[in-house]
This record gives sequence, structure tokens and C-alpha cells, in this order.
Amino acid sequence: MYLPFFKYSNSKHPTATIKEPEAFQSLELYERLRGKHLKVEFHIGIDDTDSPRGGCTTYTMSILSDRLQHEELELDGYPCLVRLNPNVPWKTRGNAATALHLKVPKTRIGEVKEAAIEIVEETSDVSQPNTDPAIVFLEGPVPSILRHFYSRALTDILTVEEAEQLAAEAGVESCLIKGNRGTVGALAAVGADLNRDDHTFEMIAYRRKENRGTKRKVDPESVMEMNSKMGDSTFNNLDPDTGRILVAPHGPDPVLFGVRGEDPWSVAEAFKMIRPNEPVERATLFKTNQGTDAHFSRSRWITELQADQSGNITGEVMTHPVSNLGGHVFFRLLDNSGEVDCAAYEPTGPFRDEVLLLVPGDRIRAFGGVGSGPLGVLTFNMEKFEVIHLVECTESKRRSCKKCGGSLESMGRGQGGRCRRCGYRLSGPLKDLIPKRRQIQPGLHMPPPRALRHLTKPFSRIERQKTNIPSRSLRGTSIRNQLFKG
Ligand SMILES: [Zn+2]
Repeated sequence: MYLPFFKYSNSKHPTATIKEPEAFQSLELYERLRGKHLKVEFHIGIDDTDSPRGGCTTYTMSILSDRLQHEELELDGYPCLVRLNPNVPWKTRGNAATALHLKVPKTRIGEVKEAAIEIVEETSDVSQPNTDPAIVFLEGPVPSILRHFYSRALTDILTVEEAEQLAAEAGVESCLIKGNRGTVGALAAVGADLNRDDHTFEMIAYRRKENRGTKRKVDPESVMEMNSKMGDSTFNNLDPDTGRILVAPHGPDPVLFGVRGEDPWSVAEAFKMIRPNEPVERATLFKTNQGTDAHFSRSRWITELQADQSGNITGEVMTHPVSNLGGHVFFRLLDNSGEVDCAAYEPTGPFRDEVLLLVPGDRIRAFGGVGSGPLGVLTFNMEKFEVIHLVECTESKRRSCKKCGGSLESMGRGQGGRCRRCGYRLSGPLKDLIPKRRQIQPGLHMPPPRALRHLTKPFSRIERQKTNIPSRSLRGTSIRNQLFKG
């Protein structure tokens, strides 16, 4: 009887067959060879290596994925940049975590873990009180409870206790450098299934250490050129109203610029068109959930809303939207369960003018997050809205003389009117109610790109969600070599 044989797909090794253990000197040798060549799924999640002083979870992942590829370890797809609920109060606006999926020989798992821990330690600023880096490891297929955890991490506030319990249930090993708060993001990142769900790509260039904290030097002309050449295959490159370059962030983190787009090829091409005027330390292509509206997926009843959640609510506008002194716009929305104040804040710019065009009776779906005021009163902070139905508005217009078109004077209440010019008498009311053209259209209304969150789907991606696109091999290292020769 022959035992199952193992084939190596890696072209560096010839196809070989391992026969029954008797063929080897000992069973131990057989097991060792078996372990060496039998690859298993291995997943790494990393979160919270960033701090206000610098550092970035994607930078940690960039170094790790390059190191593992250098060690001839096989990545299963691209490193993943996973954005989670942007309304989590203790997180920066980005709320990013990262995951790496690998196919590794069982015997090399220890080596992978060691590298991951070492790199996280090296790149985290643990002196910062709010930086609690976490790494999680999972061997074997990702269980459905982890997938579910990820969906909830997009829209809800999850506790560390929940995360720790889940890690134990799912057989996930957590490794904490300091506190335990990063566990939620690291676990959720592993649970994200970006092959199944809608996804986009971002290629990020990182700065050299000596330049971090200084003004970023990226040629704006090259970004504008790239933007016009690439069309809708990339997004959020610049803000059309202000001309502001959006590919480069602000602040002390190591990101020089990042190009977001539909597929790896467009993103890599666009990336090459941007001219940085400072040296690039490294670059990595990430698969991401950015620009997919993943955080808006949950529809909620108004009475169910809790602080810091993300999602969507559908209802009827109850009050005329009004603008306050700070330029924020508020109105009340009603659904079958209750009512809530909706807000469009000043930084959303012209978006507020669209909100101001709503009138009581209009039916809308609002997308956003739940904020809580000083007295614990909840507000739904709108990040975009869809007009489902507009009520008909009318305006009253004074009638004019049928004969000469002159103006009419009233003959007294309910007595009709008489033409001032020709004396023609007219019975009935002096005013007509005529339908008024609405200034707002049914459909989606959203803020300009500069005010969008990372997760929010830009206009250019509407109707473009995709799943399971074939991932042609485009390894991080080869792109880097191609782009930054020498
Ligand atoms: Zn007249």
C-alpha cells in the first residue's frame, strides 16, 4: 500500500513523490519531510502599531510581507489593509488593521511567528499610552465565527473580552506587546474575506526615516496627470473642488503617498506615474476594503441606535433642515420605531446645501455613524444619503387678468377680484397653487472626496462592486524592484 504522495508546486523544486515511510531510514525522517513540504494555511493579523507620534500598521505589514517573501515563503494573495468602524472613539480617523495570508510548510510556522513578533516590536512606538500592538496567528481555514466578528467590527463597538473569548474558541493565538486593545482589530483583520466581498487596492510608498515628520514632497502636477490619464480605475486622487492632492496624507506617519484603485494593474501603473521628490524607502500593494461602503451595510431601526455604531437608517424627514451658527445642518428623521436628529457637519462642505433642500415628507436613507451629544442624546451623523421619494411641493402665485394680463385687486374676502387695468371681474380665489420644481433629485447625495472616509464608496465606484477577481501574481518585491531600481 502506498501512502498519499506530495507534490511540490514550487518550480524551484522538481516534482517529487514521497513513498511509504519504510523507504526512509526512519519514521522521523519521513515526518520531517512531510512537514517540510506539506503547506498549511497560516494567517497573521496585526493592529495598533501606530501612534499619534508616527508609526503605521501598514508600514509594519509592508516590512513583514517583504521579509517573508525574501525568505521564500508563499503569500496567499496580497497583504490586506482592513478598515474597521470609523466611529470607534478611541481610534484615529483611519481605524486600520492589517492581515497577511500565507501557505507555509508546517515546519516553518515558528520562523514566521518569530519574524512577525520581531517586526511588530521594532516598528511600534510602545512608549505611547494609546499604542497597544497586537498580533494574532491562526493555522488552518478561517472559521465562520471570525468572518462574523469582522462584519460586526465594521459597524459596532466590540470589547476586548469578546475578542479574547472568540480567539480562544477559534483557536487563534494572540501575542500582545503591551496592552490588549489591539486584539479586536487584529482578529477582525484575519476575519475579513476580501476575496468574497467587494474590495479595492492601494499601493503605498513609505518615507525614509530621516524625512518623516517633514513636509511631504510629491509633485502635484504628476498626480493631476495621473488622475486624468487613469480615469475611474483609480479614485480619491484629488479633490475636484479645491484641487487638493489627496494621495499624500498629513502628519508624522511614514506614508509618503498611496494610490487607490480598482485592480492591481491600474494601481501599479498609476503609482509609477507619480513623481516623489524625496527618496522612497519601500512600497507595498495592499488589497483593501476601502471605498466599498462596508461600514454602511447594516440597516438599523432608529430606536435601536447606539453611540458610535455605523450603518444606515431609512425614514421620513420630519422638520425643515436648518443650519446653525457653526455651519452644521440638522433635521429630524422618523421611521416606524422612533425619531432622531440627523446632522451634516461643516467639513462636508457643499453636501450640506443638498441636505438643506430636503423638506418634511421626503423619504430618505441616511448612511453614517451615531454620535452622542453632551447629554447623551444620540445624533445620526450623515456621511451620505439617498433620496428615495420626494414629496410634491407647491407655491402660491397670484392670478392675473384673463383678458389683458393686468393685475387683479381683491373685491373682499371670497368675493373674487377685478382687473385694475380693464375692469374685468373674476370669481374664485385670487391665488393659484402651482407645483414647484424640486431642486434636489432622487438618488445618492454625498460629500466631496476630501470629506469622505476611507471606507466610503466614491461616486466613481457606484455599481462597480466586485468579488472574486482573479489575482494575477504581482508580488510586492518585484514591483518594488521594477519601480525603484538601484
Ligand atoms: Zn384686464
